[in-house]
Amino acid sequence: MKYAIGVDLGGTSIKYGLLGQNGELIYEEIMPTEADKGAEVVIQNLISAVNNAKQFAKSKKIVPVGVGIGTPGIVDRTNRIVLGGADNITGWSQIPLADRIEEACQLSVSINNDANLMGLGEQTFGSAKNCSDVLFITVGTGIGGAVIINGKLFGGYDNRGTELGHIPLFADGIPCACGSVGCLEAYASTNALIQQFRELSAKSGNSLQDEITGKLIISLYQQQHSIAVQALNSHYRYLGHGIAGLVNIFSPQKVVIGGGISGSGAFYIHNIKKYFNMYVMPDCAVNTEICAATLGNRAGLSGAAQWAFLNVQ
Ligand SMILES: [Zn+2]
Repeated sequence: MKYAIGVDLGGTSIKYGLLGQNGELIYEEIMPTEADKGAEVVIQNLISAVNNAKQFAKSKKIVPVGVGIGTPGIVDRTNRIVLGGADNITGWSQIPLADRIEEACQLSVSINNDANLMGLGEQTFGSAKNCSDVLFITVGTGIGGAVIINGKLFGGYDNRGTELGHIPLFADGIPCACGSVGCLEAYASTNALIQQFRELSAKSGNSLQDEITGKLIISLYQQQHSIAVQALNSHYRYLGHGIAGLVNIFSPQKVVIGGGISGSGAFYIHNIKKYFNMYVMPDCAVNTEICAATLGNRAGLSGAAQWAFLNVQ
């Protein structure tokens, strides 16, 4: 059995573990990213994470084949340098991340965009196992995604594409974090859902004492709270609309929806499907199933370990 170290670098925490080739996770840990302290601190934390996993492996007499790291932002085509585009980590651009970790930890390192590796994790070990053509969408603070074509991650020329959260829905829409307007992310992320819920509440004169989160909106929705129902129906519709556009282009076997909110229950996927079916070209969707991710917050580190397996062979 071969093992690899998988690392999922997020804005808040670093999740990492040691994974066998069949997806068996024999070690798993989490540590704070300290993203606000800048790139150098984050790199040192990543080195500690990899060394911890290496230490555990040593105690089990395992020599990992390599390390895979999923990072926010755009990664160059050699899978070694973070070019930029990650606003949640201060100074996270032009970082020769693979070289830095390799030097410090003496293991072969390959990196890729975090959402890409979550998608790869779901395709290798999760809900799209045995599928060759997969779209992955993660719904959280923003919207990220991955495209897998013929069993391989597709990144566009120079690995600069597949920003699935930034497909345009409205030419005169609301501003998006990317600098454009009217993107899927600006309408259908969890942040956008919370924003819509706030606006609708303010309009109706309702004021809620609690801090508003995606979880709270879901629980109010399940109690038939009228504003939560209205806000989530819009959320389902925007996602269904965006996914329909993507399926018209890629016609995958599965669209896997991840992110905390996707685990709310069967009703969540069911409602997105309902709107998806209204917008998609039926002939493009005959082979497409929409489903929830099954690896939860382990998708990133599992996909990262798989990325290491793929790159050391
Ligand atoms: Zn955008």
